[in-house]
Amino acid sequence: MSRIEEGPRLFGTNGIRGIPNDDLNVEFCENVGKAIGSYMQTGEIVVGKDTRISGDMILSAVVAGILSTGTKVVDLGVLPTPALQYFCRRNSKPGVIITASHNPPQFNGIKCIHVDGTEMPRSDEEGIEKMFYEEDFMRAGWESIGTYRRYSGAVEEYVQGVASMVDSNLIREKHYRIIVDTGNGASFSSTPMLLRILGCSVVTLNANPDGTFSARQSEPKPENLSALAALMKSGGFMAGFAHDGDADRTVVFDEYGEFIDGDKTLALITKNVAGEGDVVVTPISSSDSITDVCRMAGAKLIRTKVGAPIVSRTMIENGAKVGGEENGGIIYGPHQYCRDGAMAVALFLELMAKTGKTPSELIRSIPQYALVKRSVELRKPWKEVRTVLLEELEHEVTDLMDGIRIIRDSGWVLIRPSGTEPIVRVYAEAKKLETATEMEDEFVQLVKAASS
Ligand code: MG
Repeated sequence: MSRIEEGPRLFGTNGIRGIPNDDLNVEFCENVGKAIGSYMQTGEIVVGKDTRISGDMILSAVVAGILSTGTKVVDLGVLPTPALQYFCRRNSKPGVIITASHNPPQFNGIKCIHVDGTEMPRSDEEGIEKMFYEEDFMRAGWESIGTYRRYSGAVEEYVQGVASMVDSNLIREKHYRIIVDTGNGASFSSTPMLLRILGCSVVTLNANPDGTFSARQSEPKPENLSALAALMKSGGFMAGFAHDGDADRTVVFDEYGEFIDGDKTLALITKNVAGEGDVVVTPISSSDSITDVCRMAGAKLIRTKVGAPIVSRTMIENGAKVGGEENGGIIYGPHQYCRDGAMAVALFLELMAKTGKTPSELIRSIPQYALVKRSVELRKPWKEVRTVLLEELEHEVTDLMDGIRIIRDSGWVLIRPSGTEPIVRVYAEAKKLETATEMEDEFVQLVKAASS
């Protein structure tokens, strides 16, 4: 998972990730801070962190580096990544968040945020990397060394901002009984606060900040959320929500404690907010149910390569209303162009309140598809495998935007190499599970043959 040994590239798809005191040691983090301050050349940089134990050490080192370049620092404390992004955008300041999102507790990371609140563009990351490797740091004179201050209002401003984007009064009238599992992560206070503002009766699970993630693993997958599902099955809850460690993602459980796939949540939220002429953005790996929902709403759907930063950038360029990925990362344009876990919760509750339907009823109201995924080990470089596959697939309709996507009347298949491991992922979607599985089998065999 660590990206640091890979040579001149510091930043992976989600910032810098590594093991504290191993690759992310104090000297390294201090130099990253110096490179950030030197490159950005701005008055003040916003910082914050998630609940990981190593957050204090890494943040202190990064802050010392930034201050040494003559840049001031404002520290927002522990907060969700989207809360820091919201502060950055509203105050037009760049930011740095110390988080490893959903990774296991021994990891941590450094992620840079642009003044518009989105992930820093790759061109700026390259500028920081160049300064880091050349150690071309600014060094302020004693009289102009940066100063440090804390600001404690960011979480509340963010929660109020999220609540203001939905019909809060309508949700409040419903007095929903909701359970939320914040997984000992950064949303331990923000999402319960939001739910209370929205008039919900709230039961929290793992809402104590604990950097060891002792209660459950941070990735919000069904297998890590069995406690939430079991509590919900005891009855009396209208919906359940769970976040990853930095709360940019949300997964939803229906009133029976059944996990709702991220594709379906995205389709439902799209149905709630997208109207005639609106633009919706999602990667090519997400379900056709979003295509159908957009068609019914008269909205324009743009498909992108896989990855939240690409979805965000495409949304900005096209003034999109909503976008997101199948993993529970929802982006609501009128609020901010980044994945936002609390915003997803508010939009889902608003949809329930507007329609008067329960989550399971809502799911039944959208087109149903079966999407299956499998990983195949790569024994040859992807380039070679790709050439063989394209020869084999010459009579198929393909889309080569990201990996190879095969489009048939019965559904579609996406063959895409992982960015971090020597594996290829095969996604297949069809109206029926049986068809999807058949197509998956067919293409898994094809990839195996091409890579052996
Ligand atoms: Mg995350």
